[in-house]
Amino acid sequence: MKTDVLIIGAGGAGLMAAIAAKEEGVDVLVLTKEYPTRSQTCMAQGGMNAALGNVAEDSVEDHIQNTLKSAHGEADEESIRFMCSEAINAVEYLDSIGVCFSRTGDGKIAQRRLGGASAPRACYAQDYTGLKILHTLYDRANALGIEFVNDTFLLEVLKDEDGNACGAKVLDIRSGELKTYIAKTVILATGGYSRIYDKYSTNSTASSGDGIAAALRAGAKLKDMEFVQFHPTGLKNSSILISESARGEGGYLLNSKGERFTDELAPRDQVSRAIDEQIKKGEDIFLDIRHLGESFIDEGLPQERKLAKLYENVDPVHDLIPIKPVAHYTMGGIAVDNRSQTNVERLYACGECANHNVHGANRLGGNSLLEIVVFGREAGRNAATKAKEVASLSVPAHTECFLEKEFSNTVDFYKYKEKIGNLLYNKVGIVRKKSELKDALEELEMIKSLLPQMGWSDTSAVYNTNKQEFLEFRNIVEVSEVVIQSALGRDESCGAHYMEAQS
Ligand SMILES: Cc1cc2nc3c(=O)[nH]c(=O)nc-3n(C[C@H](O)[C@H](O)[C@H](O)COP(=O)(O)OP(=O)(O)OC[C@H]3O[C@@H](n4cnc5c(N)ncnc54)[C@H](O)[C@@H]3O)c2cc1C
Repeated sequence: MKTDVLIIGAGGAGLMAAIAAKEEGVDVLVLTKEYPTRSQTCMAQGGMNAALGNVAEDSVEDHIQNTLKSAHGEADEESIRFMCSEAINAVEYLDSIGVCFSRTGDGKIAQRRLGGASAPRACYAQDYTGLKILHTLYDRANALGIEFVNDTFLLEVLKDEDGNACGAKVLDIRSGELKTYIAKTVILATGGYSRIYDKYSTNSTASSGDGIAAALRAGAKLKDMEFVQFHPTGLKNSSILISESARGEGGYLLNSKGERFTDELAPRDQVSRAIDEQIKKGEDIFLDIRHLGESFIDEGLPQERKLAKLYENVDPVHDLIPIKPVAHYTMGGIAVDNRSQTNVERLYACGECANHNVHGANRLGGNSLLEIVVFGREAGRNAATKAKEVASLSVPAHTECFLEKEFSNTVDFYKYKEKIGNLLYNKVGIVRKKSELKDALEELEMIKSLLPQMGWSDTSAVYNTNKQEFLEFRNIVEVSEVVIQSALGRDESCGAHYMEAQS
């Protein structure tokens, strides 16, 4: 199977890249392991930042300064300037293709304030913002005739004898066959890696860092992998997210004594640490939105009410919501330049799997949906332009296939998947210590050495989810190893990477 631009991943970033590449007049094919409309982007609730100034005074410069401050000196000012300046265009584009943003009384796009923002800047569609963006982009991609192959799991990025990316080796989940796709350029848009924290994550189960692990195996550089953002308000028992918009609209954080203990709208790293400190003192922590009133909650935060009822059995109109901070967003990823190009020729990356140098050590709420639209478009355009320069399709060099190795299947990998989640949450979490990071790495290396004794027990070829989960597990192991090594490589505290002094 052959195409000009091959895109792996059909979340907001992959879809935006596909639309932009197609509009450049090249052939585009999108592969994804799940149905596009189920991609994690659909879970984004709070909003997408753009300094429209529709409900209060705001400016692109303030957006830039807020983003720079939150990044703790670890981002690139030029990239941030580009993203924030493009934000207004990006929202206008989404509005023009049919994203149903919530409106103010006078018909402008409504905006709310999220943590670390100096003004109400997040444009939203109730608390279903990501869902509306994703589904509208998918409609648009279909209208342009872009081809999708769903239920396709990326195994390896293929390279030719000269080291150029030239396609992908995949598992067809429906049939169990191994397949090869050849392309002039390849874009990875496979999402983040917060699911390495297993049950301590707000993320979709698909966010196992597959594209990042495949990029690493193909020789691509990774950057800032230690920067894992913990969201202050995961539901206590399920880790399901209660969006920052709940605090943005005026919600409070309370401890068991009913006291407020932090600025609820400070950046997420600060709020998460404040909660962590309280929990370590023995406090239970709650989000209180009761004072916002039923009609306001039903109009502005309908999903949050449903999630709290469904997963925590509390009704936020009348009850406090029990919460805890959990892994939510990964600032690290595949290193790319300002053209979304990796260090591997003809390999591009965008979205949460990439590091476009805009979030640094701590991402601001609302800047990720912005990033996937702005840089998804850039990646699509640049990969298409490059594809036009490539005269013919390359022949891939031989790539060893992990699936063809021997696995004795005497050790249950599911047990170790949970173990890695616990290990990371406890030792590579909100507050870190060098000795614990070293312990975590040692334990992870031991788990890695057991891989040949693991494997899949389901032998069916068709829709073998057991095999797919083992492939994800392998990526979780590889990505976790890099996260711990990167954390060990940084002694000082910086944003989401907070080191406690050793006694
Ligand atoms: C609960 C929640 C709420 C959020 N709220 C907000 C918000 O309000 N504002 C904001 O700015 N950000 C928010 N975010 C963050 C934001 O939604 C994500 O960072 C963003 O949507 C990521 O988009 P993406 O396209 O990079 O990846 P995704 O949407 O995760 O898409 C990844 C795609 O890659 C595919 N894929 C993965 N692995 C493979 C493989 N091996 N083979 C083939 N395909 C593969 C998947 O199937 C999927 O199609 C939120 C995140 C969560 C979890």
